[in-house]
Amino acid sequence: MALTEHRTFLSQNKVVSSSENRDAEMVRRVGSRIASAITTYYSKQGKGDILSGYQWEFNLVDSKEVNAWCMPGGKVVVYTGLLPVTQNEAALAVVLGHEITHAVAGHGNERMSQGMVAQGLGVAGNILTSGNAKVNNIFNNVYGPGAQVGVLLPNSRKQEYEADHFGLIFSAMAGYNPREAIPFWQRMAQSGGQKPPEFLATHPSDENRIAQLQSYMDEALKYYKPVKK
Ligand SMILES: [Zn+2]
Repeated sequence: MALTEHRTFLSQNKVVSSSENRDAEMVRRVGSRIASAITTYYSKQGKGDILSGYQWEFNLVDSKEVNAWCMPGGKVVVYTGLLPVTQNEAALAVVLGHEITHAVAGHGNERMSQGMVAQGLGVAGNILTSGNAKVNNIFNNVYGPGAQVGVLLPNSRKQEYEADHFGLIFSAMAGYNPREAIPFWQRMAQSGGQKPPEFLATHPSDENRIAQLQSYMDEALKYYKPVKK
């Protein structure tokens, strides 16, 4: 379902070509490094099979929205509107680490299951492949482009902190200074009304989020080896 949604999204939006655009090239570079950090992390834990179905793809899409997302299966999209807030590669790495953690840790799947139960649909069996309209609708509410504030919030703050925590570790492993997460989230806080739905939906307050990030920092720094330029 993610692959179909992803293909549809790309066909309906303006994808910036990475062969002629430095920002699109940067999105691809940062994304690939984060993906390989995650692969290393999971393999070392003997959980490499979690990523076996992943076919990574990183696209920059021309849109004012301050947003980025990763679908299960490794399809990642960054909106050009995010880049003035990230301002540097390390901050983009923090965002991609966060979004990819949501996908890999199955956060969306958890929320989908809850959505299916809430809609009176069985979670087991082949319903996910049946093209059921209600299921499609839930999918669109949980993932990426159509993600909305609302429904399934109980676990989401916990998921947000988990994504922040591992996102920091993965960006450090990928060679990016995790300390950039703090000024990035301060800039996000200042960008006010422009916050993306995904961040809005869960909104640990900006101060809480930054305090939590500080508490993960020593651990993340243990993984940090700067990339050679
Ligand atoms: Zn998140």
